[in-house]
Amino acid sequence: MSGHQPWREIDTGLQSAATNIAWDRTLLELRSEGVIPNTLRFLRYTPTALVGYHQSLNEELRLDYCRKQGIEINRRVTGGGAIYFDEPQLGWELIFDRRLFGATTDMATISQRICEAAAEGLRGLGIEAAFRPRNDIEVEGRKISGTGGAFDGDAVLFQGTLLIDFDVEALLKALRVPTEKLNKREITSARERVVSVKDLLGHIPDFETVKEVMRDGFRRHFGIDFTPGELTAAERERFKEVLPEIEETEWVELVTTPEEQADIPVVYGVHKVRGGLLRARLALDLKRRTVRSAMISGDFFIHPKRFVFDLEAALRDCPLDQVEVRLDLFFAGQKVEMLLLSHREFREVILKALDKLKIADRFGLSVEETRDVMLWGNQPMEQTLREATVMLVPYCAKPTDCEWRHKDGCDECGRCAVGDAYRMGRERGMKVITVINYEQLGDTLDRMKQEQVPGYVGMCCEAFFIKRQKAFRDADLPAVLLDIEGATCYELREEDKAYAGTFEAFAGLKLPIVEKVMAFVPPLGLPVEEQSDAFPRRSFLKQKKVSG
Ligand code: SF4
Ligand code: SF4
Repeated sequence: MSGHQPWREIDTGLQSAATNIAWDRTLLELRSEGVIPNTLRFLRYTPTALVGYHQSLNEELRLDYCRKQGIEINRRVTGGGAIYFDEPQLGWELIFDRRLFGATTDMATISQRICEAAAEGLRGLGIEAAFRPRNDIEVEGRKISGTGGAFDGDAVLFQGTLLIDFDVEALLKALRVPTEKLNKREITSARERVVSVKDLLGHIPDFETVKEVMRDGFRRHFGIDFTPGELTAAERERFKEVLPEIEETEWVELVTTPEEQADIPVVYGVHKVRGGLLRARLALDLKRRTVRSAMISGDFFIHPKRFVFDLEAALRDCPLDQVEVRLDLFFAGQKVEMLLLSHREFREVILKALDKLKIADRFGLSVEETRDVMLWGNQPMEQTLREATVMLVPYCAKPTDCEWRHKDGCDECGRCAVGDAYRMGRERGMKVITVINYEQLGDTLDRMKQEQVPGYVGMCCEAFFIKRQKAFRDADLPAVLLDIEGATCYELREEDKAYAGTFEAFAGLKLPIVEKVMAFVPPLGLPVEEQSDAFPRRSFLKQKKVSG
């Protein structure tokens, strides 16, 4: 780009979303018409949630939340993903003639070159920023600036958001990131994937300093000079025409998804590893059969830390039927140190998450419902259900005034779903047990293990499954565990009460899921050997043992 006219630099200051987007379109159009020079613009936004040009508004944003919080909603003229923007962030953009890049129309090439220049600029602040394909600027694997671009004839608008100081909770609430629960762990996980200038420097530099280093990065990288400029009369005229269109619902809602399809399907995988749990969360695009985004978390030690972020980036937009190949390629090029972990386990947890799609198909569950299914053991769910002889029900799913609340048994009086669960178990000849505290669960699982129970169906909250995994690990019996609903001990910070069996809230069973899953547990074959304190046996399993 060297040897060209100096570029104009403007700063349009803190503006509403519609104003900023209207300026984007104005500048791109006028550059395309040859009316204005190549321009570097700095900009800031009042709280705003923006979708990329091609994105579906209601699939990407939590519209109700944004409206309630006074967060403005709009659509960019550039592609890329949804972003949340507020006052502390600094927007930067280049509007120029694409022939400066050798007439390329390849946005990937333009993106790489501009991101490298912006990263070079950030290094002027002492931040070790680098380009990460496809279009991010990162620092040790954590994103500090997302970017996107658009063409209009020979003109290009390329823009980025630099995170100066960052409220991750506001972002998670405004955007439909693939989590509905927004619990602390998920917020922490998301926070680890981004980094702000303040995080890295320990203070917020003034905007002029940041602008100076960015400008310097572009100057050195491309050999261009910038001269401060103003918006022209022609630009203001065009802006006046464009603004009403950008404020129109028609523009903002250009792409929307019918409400019933707006929920992004997400599948979850949990894999037990030495020293903890590994979790994968994959947001899917079922129409295109691709992974929209991935998040891997767990209590693990990996060096370099960016391994996980790169793995997530490698899975983005990957066709579902190519995930395994993509993983193999990714792992082949990695040199990492892991404590008590290997590539195999990462592969496993991702494939387990994808398996949830098969579980949804096989067991007639919605993708969302598969989140409530937790498996223990390494055999197929179908086998565990076919062989299950015991059902465990938590006492917290019984009403607080039920006489059976703190003891084993149920009259099936019809007041709660535990009665239905008991009935389903009884009809199949299973032994149904109410778990009344942690100690009794341990004893019960112990006895089941000694008596070689082949598998069981249990109900408990996900938090219990995660936090009290020792009980499940010690027993190591194949299990299909189903999440319960309502406030759990862990959410109410009453886990000690859960342990002791004195939790006083009522958390119900998710009956539709229990019914769908139990449909795959066949009645026990005859003869059923049911003794007072023993566990029933499936005749075909017993015969198998005898003949073996
Ligand atoms: S169905 Fe069973 S657990 Fe539920 S209230 Fe009636 S007796 Fe109690
Ligand atoms: S931990 Fe609490 S909420 Fe969860 S299953 Fe046990 S008693 Fe119920």
